[in-house]
Amino acid sequence: MSGIFGFTCTSCGERHEGSSSFAFRAPDAYLEQSAEIQARGSLGRNLCYYKDEDGEHYFIRVVLDIPIHGVAEPFIWGVWVSLSKQSYQDYQAHHDKPDINTTYFGWLCNYLPWYSNTYTLATSVHPLDGDHRPCITLHDADHELIHDFKLGISIAKAQQIAELCLHQAAKQEV
Ligand SMILES: [Zn+2]
Repeated sequence: MSGIFGFTCTSCGERHEGSSSFAFRAPDAYLEQSAEIQARGSLGRNLCYYKDEDGEHYFIRVVLDIPIHGVAEPFIWGVWVSLSKQSYQDYQAHHDKPDINTTYFGWLCNYLPWYSNTYTLATSVHPLDGDHRPCITLHDADHELIHDFKLGISIAKAQQIAELCLHQAAKQEV
């Protein structure tokens, strides 16, 4: 078992080392809002909030680990989940000392590349000690991401997803 995931990219020909971690800078729902709504809300490194005609929306940054077969390090997605106002306030209140015995319910709020619609998959959010962002577990349902979360993915699949993440932006510009 090797420690870190690395591969020679079929897209650009470069070697990508430790490239199995991809993060979203915001919940997709926030990015879809108008500039005014975004300006009245807030987006930080770990917390996001906005209010629209439907009401108030609260999000936190979390981590989703997908095991890679034969590699110690998982494929890590840095994603956002929406929480209830009560959960969000509780999470904020424990900012300095996360309550690791608590679990919050959260809806996944990013569209992950590769997978069919991952938006609003149900999750449980588990606060972790120290400076670590909370990790999430996915609730059972018939979805490829949930399948991968439970069973892990092959190195070949991890490479395909990583290539898509690394080069998606470039492809979109074409
Ligand atoms: Zn590449």
